[in-house]
Parts: sequence; structure tokens; C-alpha cells
Amino acid sequence: MPELPEVETIRQQLLKEIVGKKIKELTINDSQIINLPPEKFQALLTGVKIKDIRRRAKLLIFDFDNDYSLIVHLKLTGRFIYFKNNQKIKDKAHLIFIFQDKTKLLYQDVRKFGYLKLVPTNLAQDIIKAHNFGPEVLDKDFTLERFEKVIRQKPKAKIKPLLMDQSILAGIGNVYSQEACFRAGINPQRTVKSLSKEDVKRLYQALKKVVVLALKKRGSSVDTYLDIYGKRGDFEPLLKVYGRENKPCFNCGAKIKRIKMNGRSTYFCPKCQK
Ligand SMILES: [Zn+2]
Repeated sequence: MPELPEVETIRQQLLKEIVGKKIKELTINDSQIINLPPEKFQALLTGVKIKDIRRRAKLLIFDFDNDYSLIVHLKLTGRFIYFKNNQKIKDKAHLIFIFQDKTKLLYQDVRKFGYLKLVPTNLAQDIIKAHNFGPEVLDKDFTLERFEKVIRQKPKAKIKPLLMDQSILAGIGNVYSQEACFRAGINPQRTVKSLSKEDVKRLYQALKKVVVLALKKRGSSVDTYLDIYGKRGDFEPLLKVYGRENKPCFNCGAKIKRIKMNGRSTYFCPKCQK
């Protein structure tokens, strides 16, 4: 599932390519992924301009100049692909935005867990609020103190699944939570209450570092993720533990172990992560 670095990469690319553009036409090939009858969805979006594209946690929010907003969750396999002028679309598309300048934005979602919700902008704010998302790792006010405060709310929780809890931290998922644990030298099964002040600090720094670096590399294509130009992210070769079962640890050479935590594969080095 795309996490913060992937969703933010998509947002930044979309900002560059489509903000300010007017939607000339909208093709809907699959109405299951949208929240309104297709005719209504089309009528509300035809002729409107894209004002801004925001992100909160793993949600993308498109704001239009008719005071409507589109909330998009890519879930497992949702993706946007951007097509420049006259480029032929061969891909299977669930939705195609055609802009006045003839560029196109396609949405496809093989597994169809994702959704696109078109609602009045003020209602979009309420919907986002109702998710009770925790702080954003990339925000300036995401300080060590704030991080410590949010995780200490659940002293008995195991640290890795806690990092993935969207009400604790926004946008962190299965990949970056375990990469942060490795970089901090912390076993993902540790409970929050067992972490010293020093552990929390290392984890905070590791988390920020891994997210910033992954964003710089346009994310990791460990699943079906591609950016809006159809390119894979460049962070995958920099993953230290994820997907590396029985391979030697980059630090110490010990075999990387795989366990299941809350049903999700979790990798760690039994020697480096205490
Ligand atoms: Zn190691």
C-alpha cells in the first residue's frame, strides 16, 4: 500500500502537472469506485478548475473552484497516471480526466479497494477530521516531544504496529514502520513502555530520516506502486530489512528474520535490533 512517501510523491507531481487546469471531460468506466451516480459525478466536475491538491495521512484531497473536493484513498493498488498531449491511452482505466489542454489523468485500481469521494469542500474537512489522524511526520511541529507524547498514550502497545496506527502517526504503514525500527536499532516487538527516552529519540530521528529520504527517492515500488509518470520509486534498493528474509544484515551480517505482527510480515535483524 502506498504510504506517506508514495502518496506525497504523487501529490507533488500532480501539483506540478494539473493544478490550474480545467476538466473538459470525464470518462467513468467503473462507477463502483466513486460515491455518486456517474452522471452526477460528471456534471459536478465538468468545466471546473483544480485549485489545489492536499494530502492528509494517505488521503489525497483535490479542491475544485466550485467548492467541491475529491477525497482519494489509493488503498492497495490505486494509482494515477498522467498523459501528455495526444499520448494514446492503452492502460485499463477506471476513470479518465481529460483537461482542456488535452492532457489526461487516468485512475486505475486493479483490486478496487480504493475510493474517490466527491463532496462539498466543507464536508471534506469534517470527513478528514472524523478520521482522527495523528501528527504528520513531515510537519514542522512534529517534534520529538510530540512524538513521545503520542506514542506514550499506549504504553502496552508494540512499537511497530503502533507506528502504523493512523491515529498515532499519519501516513506510516508496514514498510516504513519496520525500516524506522531497524534504523533505530529497536526490535519491532518491544512495547512502548520498555523504550527509554534515548530509544524514543533514536526512533523519532530514524522515522523522520527514512520518510524524508524515501520521498526524495519517490517512494518504494515494493508492490504495484508507480508514480504519475508510470515510473517505479527509487527507494527499494535502500530498504534495509523489508523483504529481506534470511539475507545478511547490512550492519552485522546476521540473517534477517521475518515474523508476523497483526497479520503483516515484519522483518528485523535479531542482532542489531534489541
Ligand atoms: Zn544486524
